[in-house]
Amino acid sequence: MKRALNSLRYRFFLALGVVLLMALLALGVIAKVLVIPALLAKEEEYASQELDRAERAINNELKHLSLLNNDWAVWDDSYDFMQGKSPDYLETNLAEGLVFKDANLRLIAFFNPDGSPYWLAGINPGSGEYTSCSSLSDACQWTRQTVQALSTRIQNDTTQTRQTWLQASPERALVSLNPVLRSDGSGPIVGWMAMVRSMNESWFARLEESTGLPLKVRAVRDLTTAWFGTTIERIDEKSMLATRGIAALPQGYHLRLQATLPRQGFKASLETFRFALYWTIGLIIVVVSVVLILLERMILSPLRQFAAFTQQVQSGKAEEPPSALLRRRDEIGTLAREFQQLLELQRRQTSSLVELSHHDPLTGLANRRLFDQTLEETLQQAHLHSQPMGLLMVDIDSFKNYNDHFGHPAGDACLKAIADAMQRHFLRPNQLVARTGGEEFSIVLPGSSEAVCARLAESLRQAIEALGLPHPASEVSPVVTVSVGVACSAPEQPRSPQELVDAADAALYAAKQAGRNQVSMEGEQATA
Ligand code: GH3
Ligand code: MG
Ligand code: MG
Repeated sequence: MKRALNSLRYRFFLALGVVLLMALLALGVIAKVLVIPALLAKEEEYASQELDRAERAINNELKHLSLLNNDWAVWDDSYDFMQGKSPDYLETNLAEGLVFKDANLRLIAFFNPDGSPYWLAGINPGSGEYTSCSSLSDACQWTRQTVQALSTRIQNDTTQTRQTWLQASPERALVSLNPVLRSDGSGPIVGWMAMVRSMNESWFARLEESTGLPLKVRAVRDLTTAWFGTTIERIDEKSMLATRGIAALPQGYHLRLQATLPRQGFKASLETFRFALYWTIGLIIVVVSVVLILLERMILSPLRQFAAFTQQVQSGKAEEPPSALLRRRDEIGTLAREFQQLLELQRRQTSSLVELSHHDPLTGLANRRLFDQTLEETLQQAHLHSQPMGLLMVDIDSFKNYNDHFGHPAGDACLKAIADAMQRHFLRPNQLVARTGGEEFSIVLPGSSEAVCARLAESLRQAIEALGLPHPASEVSPVVTVSVGVACSAPEQPRSPQELVDAADAALYAAKQAGRNQVSMEGEQATA
């Protein structure tokens, strides 16, 4: 488990997973901090523009009312009426209130230049009846608040020009005030004429028709300060309520313009953004997955193969990197090839070390260590297969004298010559010639019976004698000779390596005792 957690695959998976999560998180944060606020701001801008449009439409309505009022006020008939010269003016022009319905008016009020009411005519909102009075009499009490406000305005006015405004109380209305002049616009001002148009259902219907907006206007008492900015209340995903304060009279009131607006723009932008977001997320996931797959295929899998191979090398189960790795042209291929070369170098060095540790440097023959090993193995095999085996122990005669006579280097050369002769004499692959002492040699002869061993020993003795290496200091011959002790292990009487060595040694001793330059079989007289 711990190994799996430490693996490169897991770590890459983890790292890329973290990168993926961070990217998703970043996208989430970008959406929350940048995109959504930007979309909301855009939506607010849209709402504000729509309310601007509504406000412009209301201003147009005011202008329209003002023009109508002007038509009436700057007219000789009205001028005469204000001077009491046109007795049938009211009857002709107001015609029992028909004009109020036609022009959608609540009230038409005439004022003296000092602001006092001159004539008031309109539709009582309480009863819906047409009233017409020369003063604020009972019938026209309903106009009191408006008329008083108009009187005050006329009294305080210094501009003497036409004006319009919105009225919040007693009812929501548009108000226009115009000085009464002659048709040609000449004065003096003989009075004032005001028109009040109620913001009734038909007015709102017309406004909705011209703006395309479902508008509402509410009168609000200013408890604190009036707020003329735009506020947005998002009702649900589909619609929002945009509100804006607009100045109105009387003092202490204002109107609140409200429009229920669709949120399609926001929704569409949000959906577009979500669409882009999902695609981005999908793309990131795909990219990360592809990177993982490529990593797995190009790096991780070959690396795992390589790691598995190095473990197999350690346990001796593999010697060469997989050929798929060796064939690669990338860095992993280079690594595999370098590793293979290093392995080969190590193998060569190991085998030469083994060779060195098993051979005698002077003669090149097997040394004592290899001899002991081989003897033991050969004996085991012989026992196993019920085969005989023989051991020859060879010692150069009077070699001390040779050294004394010719010197040590010549003695070495003589040792080498005899070793070569012995090696040539025993060429079978399973026969082993070893230098087991200074001028003493041992020969392992698997499968050779006692008779065969005796013959081989004798032929060896003769072959060395036949070399004819001069030995003037020898006590036994003018040439270099050897004595040979022979011991055998018969299948019916298997022996241990030590027993066999002791027996051969004893036989060699016997050969020496018997005068040297001869072969001695264990337990027998030596033969010359
Ligand atoms: P014997 O006939 O009884 O075997 O007499 P010997 O002189 O051969 O035997 P001894 O054991 O008295 O002397 C062996 C000599 O072999 C002594 C030593 O100088 C010589 N010798 C042993 N190893 C080497 C070697 O590596 N090189 C040389 N040049 N001489 C060696
Ligand atoms: Mg000796
Ligand atoms: Mg000797």
